[in-house]
Amino acid sequence: GLTTRLQNVFGKLRGKGKLSEDDVNEAMREVRLALLEADVNFKVVKDFIAKVKEKAVGAEVQKSFTPGMVVVDIVHKELIELMGGTQAKLAKSNKPPTVILMAGLQGAGKTTLTGKLAKLLQSQGHKPLLIAGDIYRPAAIKQLEVLGGQIDVPVFSLGDKVSPVDIAGQGVQLAKEQGHDYVLIDTAGRLQIDEALMEEIKQIHAAVKPDEVLLVVDAMTGQEAVNVAKSFHEQLELTGVVLTKLDGDTRGGAALSVKAVTGCPIKFASTGEKIDQLEAFHPDRMASRILGMGDMLSLIEKAQTNIDAEKAKDLERKMRNAEFTFDDFLEQMEQVRKLGPLDQLLDMMPGMNKLKAAPGFKIDEKQISRTEAIVKSMTKAEKAKPDIINFSRRKRIAAGSGTNVADVNKLIRQFEDMKKMMKQFSGMMGPKGPKGGMK
Ligand code: GDP
Ligand code: MG
Repeated sequence: GLTTRLQNVFGKLRGKGKLSEDDVNEAMREVRLALLEADVNFKVVKDFIAKVKEKAVGAEVQKSFTPGMVVVDIVHKELIELMGGTQAKLAKSNKPPTVILMAGLQGAGKTTLTGKLAKLLQSQGHKPLLIAGDIYRPAAIKQLEVLGGQIDVPVFSLGDKVSPVDIAGQGVQLAKEQGHDYVLIDTAGRLQIDEALMEEIKQIHAAVKPDEVLLVVDAMTGQEAVNVAKSFHEQLELTGVVLTKLDGDTRGGAALSVKAVTGCPIKFASTGEKIDQLEAFHPDRMASRILGMGDMLSLIEKAQTNIDAEKAKDLERKMRNAEFTFDDFLEQMEQVRKLGPLDQLLDMMPGMNKLKAAPGFKIDEKQISRTEAIVKSMTKAEKAKPDIINFSRRKRIAAGSGTNVADVNKLIRQFEDMKKMMKQFSGMMGPKGPKGGMK
């Protein structure tokens, strides 16, 4: 995938003490191919490469001891810019309710998103109302009602005999009367963009004057998602894009092209079918994820909503400073288990996607218990300073945990790798910039 390819390109640069212009050109040629292969719009790729080259040639690259890292840093920053720079917030009307209109093709995930966004808003203390505006797809109203029921958010519907324009208008009116501060209008999609679909949603738009028009696109469709966004944007002024199905086998093209092609920021990313699998879209985190630096920050945010805030902060600090002991390791493992499917979590951790791709790798709960047993058999001093764990200590730990020395060796090695990775990561992302902490 894109991440692996980019990691290879930068891996080659990283070893070099000095970069010639040829080195940079060669790397950029490979980055260009990797992006095209990931289904990023060709014009976007062209501009991107030009910008990176310009910076890479002029910049600190020649002066730096770690020119490869400087190039990675430039690419990282440009990727962030490409995706809009900062996180684009959901609109908030100063005359509530804030009206949000969903648009998109059939199957993109509009109805699911309506439920997810309602849950998110609700968790932030808001009082949303959902409006069932898809009267065409069989059971679409029911689908929304089920979602609303799950999270205890009311759904306004007038069945399938009233026009969606009237349903939307009356729903918004009701929301005002009942003091809802957000209204989410689910609408119908078609398999392809057609006149009737556009006409209807334009009429809904005119009737309710939404504060936010979210285009929901399936990230798995790559370039096609971008084309859809473009056509919608030409007819209906979009205020944001939501990428869905980012949990699937997406090549990254949609995330990287949408903002550049339409000028519309990506506001949310949907990463699964479950109602809580929705995240605010952070360009910086996505860029880190694409470059294989992992999405430590998303992980930390997720941890914060599920875990004791104090502990999470402590963990973040330790990760940044790479002062991480076996006690933290164990605690982290226990916390992580509370967070949900390990599979998803691994995707967010630096280097872990490689681990996952390794042949024969599977998540083994037994392995986790074994790890716990090993760490628990260590003394306090050993956990804090793994350097002191010599052979005889390893033998004692193995015996104490009912494992063998090979298991203990493996775990210690993993731990050291993880620490190294964190150090790299914090060097890259930390306040000192790309050079801090890198060797
Ligand atoms: P709509 O036609 O635009 O309203 O699309 P739906 O909300 O009905 O979603 C279509 C299908 O995609 C459903 O089976 C959803 O469960 C699924 N879906 C929606 N969002 C996601 C996502 O982020 N990841 C995955 N894997 N499936 C999703
Ligand atoms: Mg729907």
